[in-house]
Amino acid sequence: MHTFNRRRFLQAAGIASAAAALPRALGAATPARVVVVGGGFGGATVAKYLRLWGGGQVAVTLVEPNADHIACILSNLVLTGALSMDRISLGYNALKTNYGVAVIQARVTAINYGSGTGKGRVSLSNGRSLDYDHLVLSPGIDFIAPPDNPGAWDANVTPHAWQAGAQTLLLKKQLASMRDHDTFVMTVPKSPYRCPPGPYERACVVADYLKRKRLLFARVVVLDANAGIQAEPVAFGEAFNHIYKGMIEYIPDATVSSVISQTRSIITSAGSWSNVRVLNYIPNQRAAAIGPASSANRGWPLLNAQGFVPVDPLTYGVSGYPNIHVIGDACAVPATDGQAVPKSGHMANAEAKVCADAILRALNGQAPDTNIATSSACFSPITATTASWLSANFSYGNIYDAAGKVKGKGMQRVDLGEAPKISGDNYQDMFTWADGLFADSFI
Ligand SMILES: Cc1cc2nc3c(=O)[nH]c(=O)nc-3n(C[C@H](O)[C@H](O)[C@H](O)COP(=O)(O)OP(=O)(O)OC[C@H]3O[C@@H](n4cnc5c(N)ncnc54)[C@H](O)[C@@H]3O)c2cc1C
Repeated sequence: MHTFNRRRFLQAAGIASAAAALPRALGAATPARVVVVGGGFGGATVAKYLRLWGGGQVAVTLVEPNADHIACILSNLVLTGALSMDRISLGYNALKTNYGVAVIQARVTAINYGSGTGKGRVSLSNGRSLDYDHLVLSPGIDFIAPPDNPGAWDANVTPHAWQAGAQTLLLKKQLASMRDHDTFVMTVPKSPYRCPPGPYERACVVADYLKRKRLLFARVVVLDANAGIQAEPVAFGEAFNHIYKGMIEYIPDATVSSVISQTRSIITSAGSWSNVRVLNYIPNQRAAAIGPASSANRGWPLLNAQGFVPVDPLTYGVSGYPNIHVIGDACAVPATDGQAVPKSGHMANAEAKVCADAILRALNGQAPDTNIATSSACFSPITATTASWLSANFSYGNIYDAAGKVKGKGMQRVDLGEAPKISGDNYQDMFTWADGLFADSFI
């Protein structure tokens, strides 16, 4: 993926209708104020492209508590020592110097949604507040505690490493402490969750690491809350049944009821494990809180039953809340039953561009384009030298319920593919793809 101009992106993504659709009022006297919350793949990309395509028409402020974004993408390779943290650390300097994005290092603590006026205010942890004409929220995910004895779960003792950074380094240290005959127990959250192939990929790289350390009697137990493997069933079936046969034990339909971090114990509907060497409990997920945990909907204007924010895929707007947009893992995009839009960095990047285009059109009094396409790609290392991949493409149109009846408009999955085989070429391609996505989002 390369940095390219708006018209080329619109054409490549199939969302160009006419040159007339490009904004006309670049350099308007008072730039519109766009505040972006969260500097991950969604937030960084929307901030960059608003400025790249909108120029002086928009003043963009990105609010993010961390000095750098540590990408989850490739982070499983940091666990095994194949990559360093530096390799997945992405800074904000290029957004500032190349595009003129104002970056404030702070957390958003509360949002005034403007009572339907479309103009509101966000409050920051540093005591400041920012007024906005459009607000784009891309804060990612947070975690749902197990239902029984939730206070016994402590992610600082049994890390999920599903947000990269300190959690990744803690899990790396715990993995390095494993000896022969030890067990690494991990969970796969209930769908929808961040990066569908990610947990299975982690099981593979952990098993590969143990094998290369000649810990041949160590075991990886994968407790899946779902009925079956959620992504790349061919590649992971091959990995679990052949490459790591006897080392990885895969258990579907394992609903977690409690986790006691101090004793590294877990109770599920498929059995209980106690005092394991490493417990990598990856909890069920929902949109990250955007206000105090005690506030209604944890600060969100609207949430679906699964705890994500329903959006219009033409604008990523929230129904009834003009000028509020939600992109990335936090949003729920309407799709055909069983063909959900995946929560991935690649998809967050694509959604960000559609959202930037829609905001610029709105500022020029234009309707959003309806000729929209988005896509996702995930590369999954299987061994220290091989990988698989998954790709999915979506286009705006009718979407269907489980009985095949049209249920409305949304993003229809037009194809889904996984690598024909696990290979060394895929492993090399993984770095080319990741570097392209990192650059397109942050540079
Ligand atoms: C192991 C693993 C492997 C993965 N591999 C792939 C892959 O191969 N391909 C792929 O496309 N995706 C992959 N992903 C998924 C990808 O990392 C996520 O989908 C992506 O990061 C989502 O982007 P986002 O912008 O929604 O959220 P994030 O990237 O999580 O960014 C959210 C940002 O918001 C900030 N934030 C949160 N709350 C606030 C607040 N109140 N105020 C201000 N800022 C706030 C956070 O600090 C964070 O920086 C992987 C994930 C994991 C865990």
